[in-house]
Amino acid sequence: MKKIGFIGLGIMGKPMARNLLKAGYELVVYDIVPEPVRELVEAGARAGASSRDVAAQSDVVISMLPNSPEVKEAVLGPSGVLEGARPGTILIDMSSIAPAASKEIAVRAAQQGVAMLDAPVSGGEPKAVAATLAIMVGGPEETFEKVKDLLGALGSSVTRIGEIGSGNIAKLANQIIVALNIAALSEAMVLATKAGVDPERVYQAIRGGLAGSTALDAKMPLVLAGNFKPGFRIELHIKDLANALETAHDVGVPVPLTSGVMEILQALKVDGKAQDDHGGLIQFYERLAKVQVRR
Ligand code: NAD
Repeated sequence: MKKIGFIGLGIMGKPMARNLLKAGYELVVYDIVPEPVRELVEAGARAGASSRDVAAQSDVVISMLPNSPEVKEAVLGPSGVLEGARPGTILIDMSSIAPAASKEIAVRAAQQGVAMLDAPVSGGEPKAVAATLAIMVGGPEETFEKVKDLLGALGSSVTRIGEIGSGNIAKLANQIIVALNIAALSEAMVLATKAGVDPERVYQAIRGGLAGSTALDAKMPLVLAGNFKPGFRIELHIKDLANALETAHDVGVPVPLTSGVMEILQALKVDGKAQDDHGGLIQFYERLAKVQVRR
């Protein structure tokens, strides 16, 4: 399995594709935007003319696209993966999409002899660059075994959760936990700042205790610097929480905190901040309390 196709060369896909080249895989890439394709070709990849063309030249096709509609278009649509793939090809969708969409795409793929895994990731751009992503996988065990080493070139933890769609269920759980963490640290740090203490000292004091978290350590330095350059855009977190709300309601689970944070993100979007990093959530609280949490 040395010939890999890669579709979607955005913030995450571009460094992931580079890591596959570094690991010695033969790579053919495609994105609807030409610039990142040019960059990958300079790094040693071949350019595919379409998703169909990428699939026709690959044993394994990886997609890293924004959401369910884009994955459906790239896989099921005209000039999509299923038009080019031979039976026996493996499709690994690493995008964060609705679990129901993963299942639907997998059924269509299976009709053409293409096995599919859903394998969304956590860790963001820095971990995509460092090849230390956490990868959560759904799909048949035997397919997983065939591509475990390949996924190991992209992440430091690769865990099969269960059948198709379960990777994205794990990712929804991950995104709920991350969103609520960022909201909690925002609420707390705005309070500390307005109450008159230095938020940086509060951060240093609490990060080793029970309130410490990967989210706190990743986002607090950026908040203190007023740096909301993405990273992970608020727009994408809205997409993930929309998928979480839909999935939760489908299976009969009320998610009151998730819907609360969703409304905060919606307010930020209306305020023109959809392209900010999700650490920029704190700006909602800063505006309410008329204070800024900065170094
Ligand atoms: P991005 O918007 O930067 O990249 C998406 C890429 O897909 C773009 O280059 C776009 O041109 C391309 N694209 C869109 N439709 C296409 C199509 N039909 N055919 C081919 N290419 C197409 O997004 P990203 O930040 O790289 O995120 C990708 C996925 O990974 C999302 O599902 C996101 O939720 C998830 N994710 C992102 C992060 C992060 O920190 N950015 C972290 C974990 C997971």
